[in-house]
Formats: sequence, structure tokens, C-alpha cells
Amino acid sequence: MASYIPPETWSQHPGNYAAMLGEDTSTYMDGWVIHWPGSSRGPYTDPTLAQSIARLQGYETYHLSKEWRGLAYDYAVDMNGRLFRVRGTGGSAATSGDYDEDGVPNNRETDAVLLIVGPVDAPSPAMLAALVDLVDDLGGPRRYVIGHRQARGTSTSCPGPRVMATVIDPIQRDGWSALSTVGPAVPGTYTVVSGDTLSKIAGRFGTTVARLVAANSIADPNLIRVGETLKIPKSPKSPQAPTAPKSPQAPKSPTKPARSWQEEVIDKMQTVDLRDADKTLVKGADVGRLQALLAAAGFPPENSFDSKGRPDGEGGAGTKAALGALQKRHPKTGTGGHPDYQAGPKVWTYLLAA
Ligand SMILES: [Zn+2]
Repeated sequence: MASYIPPETWSQHPGNYAAMLGEDTSTYMDGWVIHWPGSSRGPYTDPTLAQSIARLQGYETYHLSKEWRGLAYDYAVDMNGRLFRVRGTGGSAATSGDYDEDGVPNNRETDAVLLIVGPVDAPSPAMLAALVDLVDDLGGPRRYVIGHRQARGTSTSCPGPRVMATVIDPIQRDGWSALSTVGPAVPGTYTVVSGDTLSKIAGRFGTTVARLVAANSIADPNLIRVGETLKIPKSPKSPQAPTAPKSPQAPKSPTKPARSWQEEVIDKMQTVDLRDADKTLVKGADVGRLQALLAAAGFPPENSFDSKGRPDGEGGAGTKAALGALQKRHPKTGTGGHPDYQAGPKVWTYLLAA
């Protein structure tokens, strides 16, 4: 569990954020967008808590002057690895572009993380470790991580050349393990730090306890030592398009077998039943996620998007038809090769990996 410094501690307008915490962005959280504060003056390195708070309050004042509801990021991290909760996962935040062209703007389907770095200094190891902790804490790597300027329809240099070179490029090339700064700079390895467990490490690198055990010939999965270097097995696919493999059971141990983040997402999603959707409207956030994912997978549901192209979360005949088309094309997502018009785990698994 990462710990966060909440708006009550740093903000001059904490009430603004309380209101956004429970906000439903009604879309599937697809990725991460990384920001920087631009070229405002330092010091950035080794800030005290008070210095980082003063900095956040300065950005907050600026964002409020633009008539936004508050500082428009979900989280912020300083160079000493302090994690600040800003809007949290509930609120939509900066980055209105659409990276994956699914019609859902990035401010509604990504978490925006502000790295409080200057134009000259590269992010510190403490900052990168906190970023990895944050990602772990919110369920894992997701489909993509981008720098703000990679979102289509935006025109910005954010998050600056140093963040692009030291954070975004390595993650896009090698996955989140590229941010492992505590170990030797050997790709595919990780050095155990205090507080690590195999399942935590597996989650961080998108692999499983069983794979880690096999790759490192570990005798007792409960016994890993601080300072020990582990080989990180390659994921079957790139981190931008992870699959949802059936996790093999870990060897007998009191710890739970590692679960992929996709499995956890699938677990939390209700089965959306569209069998009678022509007569009865099926509504809700899961319907909105289903609509966005169907569209992204090439089965756009007709009449299911609002005037701004966002999923309307109201599943009617168009959504039912799109789901049926998906199930005809991919028989394993239906029942015995026929569409059953129910979006259950098989459908979510297919769509999340598509
Ligand atoms: Zn930005």
C-alpha cells in the first residue's frame, strides 16, 4: 500500500477535491499520462515537504485562475518520493487528447500523474520508486503509459525531454521494470528491497509468482532476501498489450497466488446482460466500459455515444448488436459458438486483451 499526502494537508482548497473523489468517470481506466510542471523555477531536488506543498499550491492557484475545479492532476510525486493525492482515481483530469482513438478522451480513462521535476534534472530514484508504488497500488500497469504530448489532439511539450527520455521511453520499450533503479542496470533483473514479496514483484512486472519461482529456481517462495537479484521472466506480450493468462497455481504457500491486474478488473465487473436490451434498457458504468471496449475492438455499438463521442452507458439494441457481432466473430466469447448477449468474464477478457 502506498501512502498519500491528501488535499487536506497540501491544498488551500481541500473541499474542491473531496467532491471529486467519488466522481464516476464512467469509463475503463486504460492508461497513465505523465506530466511535469513546465519550466517554473526550482528547487526541485531534495525538497522539504513545505517546499513541495508551496509548489503544489502555486500550480493550484494557476489552475483555479483558468476556472478549473482545482489542480487538474490525479496524483503528484516529488523528488523525495512523496506521493500526493490530488483528484484521486475518481476525478477526470488534465489531457483532453485521445491516445488510442477510442473516442474516450484521456482525461476520463487515464490517471494523470504530475512529476514535480524541473527542466534540467532527471527524475530521482525515489520519485521513480514512488511512481511504481502508485501504479502497483492502483492495480498495475494498464494498457499504456504516455507522456502528455503523445495524446492526439494536444499541443504541448509536457512532460519535457528529461521525463520522456528517462521515464516514458524506457517504459514504452521495456515495461515498468525499466524503472527499477535499485538493482544493477541489467535489463530483465530486479534487486529485492525491504518490504518486497514475490507476489508484489510479480504484480509490478506483469508476471506471476510461479514464473518468478521457475525463472530463479526459488526453493521457498516465502523466503526472498533483500539485495538478492531476481531474473524477471519476459511477459508473453508487450506491456502495451498484456494478456490475461490463467495464472498457474503457485507452489503451496500461505501467500495467495499472484493475480494479474486484468483478472482483478474482470472480477470487479458485473456481467452485463443484454438479452432483453431492446425492451429493457441496461444502464451503468460497466455498460459504458463495455461500449468503449467494443468500439476499440472494432465493434462500435450504434447510437451508444453522446454528442461528445463518450459512451452513454445505456445499453440498448445497438450495444446488443455489437456484442452479438463480437460473439459471432469470436465464438469462445459466447455460448457454444452462438451469441448469448451476455458480457461476462470471457467477453471482458477478450476485450481487455484486444
Ligand atoms: Zn501535461
